[in-house]
Amino acid sequence: MKVAGPVVVAEGMSGARMYDVVRVGSMNLIGEIVEFRGDRASIQVYEETTGIGPGEPVLDTEAPLSVELGPGLIESIYDGIQRPLDSLVKLEGAFMSRGSAMPGLSREKKWQFKPTVAKGAKVGPGDIIGEVKETSLVLHKIMVPSGIRGTIKSISQGEYTVEETVAVCVSEDGTEHKLTLMQKWPVRIPRALSRRLAPTNVLVSGQRVIDTFFPITKGGTACVPGPFGTGKTVVQHQLAKWVDADIVVYVGCGERGNEMTDVLTEFPELKDPRSGEPLMRRSVLIANTSNMPVAAREASVYTGITIAEYFRDMGYTVALMADSTSRWAEAMREISTRLEEMPAEEGYPAYLSARIAAFYERAGRVKCLGSPEREGGLSVIGAVSPPGGDLSDPVVQATLHVVKVFWSLKGELAYQRHFPAIDWLTSYSFYSQYVRGAFENKDLGVEMEQMTKEAMGLLEQESELREIVRLVGAEALSPRDRLAMETSRSIREDYLHQNAFHAVDTYTSLEKQYEMLKTVLHFHHAGLAAVEAGVETAAIARVGVREDIARAKYIPQAEMDKIRQIRAKIDDQMRQLEGAVAAK
Ligand code: ADP
Ligand code: MG
Repeated sequence: MKVAGPVVVAEGMSGARMYDVVRVGSMNLIGEIVEFRGDRASIQVYEETTGIGPGEPVLDTEAPLSVELGPGLIESIYDGIQRPLDSLVKLEGAFMSRGSAMPGLSREKKWQFKPTVAKGAKVGPGDIIGEVKETSLVLHKIMVPSGIRGTIKSISQGEYTVEETVAVCVSEDGTEHKLTLMQKWPVRIPRALSRRLAPTNVLVSGQRVIDTFFPITKGGTACVPGPFGTGKTVVQHQLAKWVDADIVVYVGCGERGNEMTDVLTEFPELKDPRSGEPLMRRSVLIANTSNMPVAAREASVYTGITIAEYFRDMGYTVALMADSTSRWAEAMREISTRLEEMPAEEGYPAYLSARIAAFYERAGRVKCLGSPEREGGLSVIGAVSPPGGDLSDPVVQATLHVVKVFWSLKGELAYQRHFPAIDWLTSYSFYSQYVRGAFENKDLGVEMEQMTKEAMGLLEQESELREIVRLVGAEALSPRDRLAMETSRSIREDYLHQNAFHAVDTYTSLEKQYEMLKTVLHFHHAGLAAVEAGVETAAIARVGVREDIARAKYIPQAEMDKIRQIRAKIDDQMRQLEGAVAAK
């Protein structure tokens, strides 16, 4: 009846249901029913609607928007509705034609299936019945889909495609269910789980400002808001590369296409610091960049999180990055406007915060459904790009209500080339107390916690002292205050500043973070002792070893002894200064 941008209205749809997927017009465009008025359905179409007009047929597929879950997900690059872009490019070239339909999982590829239960086993939803070695990094667990319960009648090892029967399960009433390597799940419904657990294990990112001051946990939620060019995408990429998760799902949502290209060219080259395997072997990419249709952008975050939940259900730690959730919210706004809904703040629909909350609530550490007993975690990290970096933006505000970690990117820091531009004074994490437990050596963990507090104290002191300097000049500062300013500068420049593009600096293990921070603070303590002994702060600030402290970040993990040696050098040089004062 009507076409308005990505929204199409069709009549005579009384048999269809809300959220059914439909095919629109002679080009078979893919859409989803998002509203009903009588027998009139409003359909959000995932492709360009130009050329579609009234009178064309709309076909109900009688199924909700779902994703295919099974071997073949890892290393895939999908669009927002799980069309495999890497396979489509081989078929159609670089420009996808409208109405292209290709299943998310290859129908030809055969996988080696190894059963883990035997004939006669009683199984139910979520139970693991076998495994497929999907990549060198991922052992794919095959689970009984929801709604199926019964006894295994047959199951056998061998090579199967995702559609072939690997096992038959007979339910109590005698119905036979054929189990395959693949199952489907509607993206808008969270996958079932047994029980939620508190997310208390730190997800180590190798990014010093994050791990030390504002950590995220396995199952935790975080958001990265900031103005344009402050490093949101770089933070997301760094996390996708280095977090100690088993699986990474990266959703490029509405941002520039070349950022996705960076991911595609870099990931296969980069090696996982723990396993030495290419990072791509644990990643799933979803690309719905700015030049792709708006409605599919709305779907892309759901596609991403459903795939992420599926791997969580296997008992894995999964991290999902979405860049940027603002573009997702804008897609929601666009659809809402076309549906002529009542706009709320900034034109966003009134259900904006509910949708954002529901999305982040799909994160968490959980006891998975089914046996054997296992625990999984899904962390969600969303970038938010408010216009002009304005934190009162409705998307930022709605996000801050639900997430537990806030990495506030500051334009001023990015301008000074202090990266990551995470503002240490306004950012926060509700998970800080868990860093201690992330250290293998408990004593180091306890010490790290104390050092973190001391370092943050110094940074806070610095911001107050700066205010004093601005008002009455540096002369007003005591020698101890001056030293605090020097140490704070060292914390900022030598410790917090981290170059994502430097081979060594890009990732710092927790143990190296400990050694580095200890060294910076050792300078402070030795400096304080020297001040007490009458040494001028200017002389302390000039000691040669400060160059070594500044370069500690470039010392490879394997040569960590060299960082410890810097502390001995600090002692030596301070003693010399004190000796010189004593001699006078
Ligand atoms: P945003 O996504 O917020 O618009 P980007 O993530 O694209 O910003 O970052 C903009 C630029 O800032 C990058 O191209 C890079 O030059 C620089 N940058 C950001 N973070 C870092 C970092 N950790 N190390 C080095 N350079 C960085
Ligand atoms: Mg960006």
